[in-house]
Amino acid sequence: MYDYIIIGAGSAGCVLASRLSEDPSVKVLLLEAGGRDTRKEIHIPLAFSKLFKGPCDWTYFTEPEAQLGNRSLFWPRGKVLGGSSSINAMIYIRGNRADYDCWRDLGNPGWGYDDVLPLFMKSENQEHGASEYHGAAGPLRVSDLRTVNPLSSAFVAAGQESGFARNHDFNGASQEGFGFYQVTQSNGRRHSAAAAFLHPAKARKNLTVKTDAHVFGIYFEGKRAAIVSFQEGSGSRQERAEREIILCAGAIGSPQLLMLSGVGPAAHLRHFDVPVVCDLPGVGANLQDHPCTGVVYECTKPVSLASAESFSNLVRYIISKKGPLTSNVAESGAFIRTSAAGPVPDLQFHFGVGYFVDHGFRQIKGHAFTLGPTLLHPHSRGEIKLRSSNPLDAPSIRANYLADPRDMDVLLEGVKLSRALAATKAFAPYCGSALHPGPAAKDDQALRAHIAQYTETLYHPVGTCKMGHDAAAVVDSELRVHGVEGLRVVDASIMPAVVGGNTNAPTIMIAEKAAEMIKGRAGMRPADTYAGSLQSR
Ligand SMILES: Cc1cc2nc3c(=O)[nH]c(=O)nc-3n(C[C@H](O)[C@H](O)[C@H](O)COP(=O)(O)OP(=O)(O)OC[C@H]3O[C@@H](n4cnc5c(N)ncnc54)[C@H](O)[C@@H]3O)c2cc1C
Repeated sequence: MYDYIIIGAGSAGCVLASRLSEDPSVKVLLLEAGGRDTRKEIHIPLAFSKLFKGPCDWTYFTEPEAQLGNRSLFWPRGKVLGGSSSINAMIYIRGNRADYDCWRDLGNPGWGYDDVLPLFMKSENQEHGASEYHGAAGPLRVSDLRTVNPLSSAFVAAGQESGFARNHDFNGASQEGFGFYQVTQSNGRRHSAAAAFLHPAKARKNLTVKTDAHVFGIYFEGKRAAIVSFQEGSGSRQERAEREIILCAGAIGSPQLLMLSGVGPAAHLRHFDVPVVCDLPGVGANLQDHPCTGVVYECTKPVSLASAESFSNLVRYIISKKGPLTSNVAESGAFIRTSAAGPVPDLQFHFGVGYFVDHGFRQIKGHAFTLGPTLLHPHSRGEIKLRSSNPLDAPSIRANYLADPRDMDVLLEGVKLSRALAATKAFAPYCGSALHPGPAAKDDQALRAHIAQYTETLYHPVGTCKMGHDAAAVVDSELRVHGVEGLRVVDASIMPAVVGGNTNAPTIMIAEKAAEMIKGRAGMRPADTYAGSLQSR
């Protein structure tokens, strides 16, 4: 008998399992389809792309994307304890104040920036200590990179040379400008949600963690979510939740499981002979992601990460946890406003210290660097649909990238700016010939063709079980699924609009907030919160 059954041990699920099991009087079961997080590639930061298409990855592909040359894009998602936080690029970014104020203004009280800042700080163990914007007593280590590549510094200098501001803290007072990313690393090792939240809690007697436990569906008694069915060995097993079932299966898994369980667009469910428990048209809709276009240059000095995997670097890593193996590839970046932007940045840069094309699967001889302009606020919307009623089949993913022409325009400006940055004095010691797009791509038409050919996901799908109160909303502002009882969704899928930045820290914040709501502590006075207690010290 469990009080809470949590489905998915990813960024959100690990936080929730840890926070709910702080109360020894409740029993928590955490179910994860993937295995334990023991592979060394999880823990050595630079190795993350070696996990792609392996046993720790769901290895999804989108449907052919009409605006991207009908390519089916590879979408890695973590299938292991820690979920995508065990295979991600570790950048710690919260987004813009306006993102959360927007969620609040869409009818979600308690989700404005001033409401959620204390929750970001509650999770955080900031290397630089506590401050107005940062916490230092939380479980999640947020660190500077231990070794910075000279190309990353050249990128930041190129931004300053081009007249942009230098930003020393993207998560502080202002998001705009060029700077270095902080990373979720502890002592040069990845600090996933599993490492930060789950492993320290695993010895608790009231927390049971089952890996290799693919959840097949949720059974309802009337409108109440009561029982979870999951894989155990070669068979299946069922467990009952006395209080709540909490879906943390991510932006692809959560809508898929809702639909398989009879909660979703009724006609679509009937098409697959799934009995309808609740007709919720918004399940799987509103899919948003950050598309990123690689702009790649040859590097004339042998300084990129191409030579990172040497014996001496491995020894250096083992002995001191320093050197290029601690790199997260995208060490520096920027948030800027293009000509189409309002008051907040609409373009982010991820500067890749190497030839980062096709998720690292394509390589060249020699050295290169990659500027990655990334669209922050897409107007295009995609969807997740069932492909069959078999829970082991991947769902259909239609990202619909750049379906709205305004999205292409922002990326086009980003590609042009990338070229201007590469042409600065700061890059002069390193910049060789332009590889993609090559020098022959002179006009907008050629650059649009480059965007169609080289745009990939920046791995931030969200929004498929959106929070709100309109007809397309799936959960209310306490993350309870509309129209049924005893069921919440707590993960990146609840974002009504994607945040202007990377999505791991925001997802962890969502889970922190959900834990407080579930424990009945929502609406506390600021003095009772972590931030309040810091202030009163
Ligand atoms: C390659 C990559 C790089 C990224 N880089 C960054 C970055 O640098 N910074 C950043 O902020 N964000 C980054 N992200 C995004 C960030 O990691 C995600 O937004 C975040 O982890 C999402 O958390 P989640 O809890 O919603 O989902 P996940 O962390 O994906 O967790 C979902 C969990 O549910 C499990 N699950 C799914 N279906 C089932 C089922 N049927 N039964 C049982 N379990 C199931 C999954 O196996 C998984 O463990 C990256 C993501 C990827 C994939």
